[in-house]
Amino acid sequence: MSAATQRVLSVIAPMTQLNTPYPSTAYLTGFLRSRGIEAAQVDLALALVLELFSPAGLQAVRERIHAAPVAERTPRVRAFDAAFDRYHATVAPALAFLQGRDPTLAHRIATRSFLPEGPRFAALDVYVDPDDPHGEHGGDPLAWAFGALGQHDRAQHLATLYLNDIADVLRDAVDPRFEFVRYAESLAMSQPSFEPLAAALAAPPTLVDSTLQRLALQAVAAQRPTVVLVSVPFPGTVYGAFRVAQAIKAAHPDIRIALGGGFVNTELRQLAEPRVFDYFDAVTLDAGERPLLALLEHWRGRRSAARLVRSFVREDGAVRYVDIGEADVPFAEVGTPTWDGLPLASYPSLLDMLNPMHRLWSDGRWNKLTVAHGCYWKKCSFCDVSLDYISRYDAASAETLADRIEAIVAETGQTGFHFVDEAAPPKSLKALAAELQRRSLTISWWGNIRFEKSFTPALCRQLADSGCIAISGGLEVASDRLLELMNKGVSVAQVARVTKAFSDAGILVHAYLMYGFPTQTVQDTVDALEYVRQLFEAGCIQSGFFHRFACTVHSPVGKNPEPFGVTLRPLPPGDFARNDVGFVDPTGVDHDALGAALKKALYNYMHGIGLQDDVRGWFEGRVPRSGVPRRFVERALAGA
Ligand code: SF4
Repeated sequence: MSAATQRVLSVIAPMTQLNTPYPSTAYLTGFLRSRGIEAAQVDLALALVLELFSPAGLQAVRERIHAAPVAERTPRVRAFDAAFDRYHATVAPALAFLQGRDPTLAHRIATRSFLPEGPRFAALDVYVDPDDPHGEHGGDPLAWAFGALGQHDRAQHLATLYLNDIADVLRDAVDPRFEFVRYAESLAMSQPSFEPLAAALAAPPTLVDSTLQRLALQAVAAQRPTVVLVSVPFPGTVYGAFRVAQAIKAAHPDIRIALGGGFVNTELRQLAEPRVFDYFDAVTLDAGERPLLALLEHWRGRRSAARLVRSFVREDGAVRYVDIGEADVPFAEVGTPTWDGLPLASYPSLLDMLNPMHRLWSDGRWNKLTVAHGCYWKKCSFCDVSLDYISRYDAASAETLADRIEAIVAETGQTGFHFVDEAAPPKSLKALAAELQRRSLTISWWGNIRFEKSFTPALCRQLADSGCIAISGGLEVASDRLLELMNKGVSVAQVARVTKAFSDAGILVHAYLMYGFPTQTVQDTVDALEYVRQLFEAGCIQSGFFHRFACTVHSPVGKNPEPFGVTLRPLPPGDFARNDVGFVDPTGVDHDALGAALKKALYNYMHGIGLQDDVRGWFEGRVPRSGVPRRFVERALAGA
């Protein structure tokens, strides 16, 4: 076979976010085309949702409901069944509205008499207007968030609740593993054994599975690939990826299928399970470009299996890892991503969280681009710093990035960019901002950074001028002692000053927060929440998210736990996924209970509620008083 007859189809497996395509296939398709290889892409996550959330899809759901015993129907399934005709009549218009194809429908949706309302709408009754906590100035529970004129946003939120109601029904009546952003996640997440996944794949397909497999075969029939690439960024895409491969292998045993992506790079590095290769011909590690070129050559008969790059294959029934160590394709030469072939007008914009920063993740179609490969800092002790996606820092020039941006705007007609770096370097952002300004390129962009002091007020203003609308960064456990133990390279006072500089420049700031880090005490947790409260109160940050610390085998804590005061539990035996490792922290703090309080507090802070209150009020039971000076952040800002 020659390169000319090789045709590659890259597949986004369900589920990933719905508002915009996951970027892996766009990167690979752009790269392959830049090397003269015929390449196409398909988003099966989007296709699956559009199929299930259609009149015919809802009809199929109803048939499943009626085929099962009546006693199995949950209250929300019964409510859906009773209001079925309304759901059936409204699902297509609601989707068209969320896709931006029918904006005037906002007026009818906002009346709350158009869409049927299931249990998700009960959440509206608990929203509190911070300026009118007792509802004395009118009875509209959404007025505080949307005001009198925010019809479109209000309708978007209502239509999102409506879709969530239907997703709940699907979970109850059709497939308990279905969620909008993940599918059957627990089958893959830190699963040392392949057994649960194998059993699920051997089970009769649910309506979700059979719909997905039909769509996969339709895509193959339309594109006629010789090679299919399936990318699995998260555990919640793995089961779907295997179902896709299962269908293609059964119908087209001659098509080669390769598996790669973030889940493989972090969890399958010690893969030894031969049954994975009943579905896939090869599994590649880390940046996909070089391993893929080698595999394509191999499948054309131009390279032996012994000369593959970072690939697992099965030989004589056993898994073998092959890597002849060829250098990766430099970041400057990976080409420009292309979204050609993806139905960009069909991605629904959802509005779950009534917070202006949070909505960016689910609302709007963002072109995803990377400023640099890897992280320039690569020192944080909880991070996968030993892996390629963090450790191999490789940047491109501002001119190259601006060229890519121009090409993407010309192709998609859309000017919103999400820079999906682990931590975009300040120097590169400054140079990129100058280049965008020099070319008078009008774009909007947001991305991840570290809260470095080099982000001065002047630089923040320049970034805002270049189109920056929001940034996110890690404050982790807001505690100078723990930030030092984490080797984060920032202090709470510095984060306060940097985030304020961004906010003052009109840029929204989101903080990644953490709890449960080794040696973290109850006092540390209360203090961290007090810092976070002050940062919200002072207008430094507008949103955040608390993650529970997880120890991975690739992080400094997982490799050398002693300096962090913890001991690791032995990993369970198995030849499939390995990533998280259990540990014993002698402080013995109940982080689950504390985490619930942190999340509740943060949720309220994001809606402007409870910012004046003593942080102890969020915790169940007694916790110590915060030891943080009440005006810590104010003083840090005054000393800037
Ligand atoms: S946590 Fe972020 S800043 Fe720290 S090493 Fe990892 S990617 Fe870099």
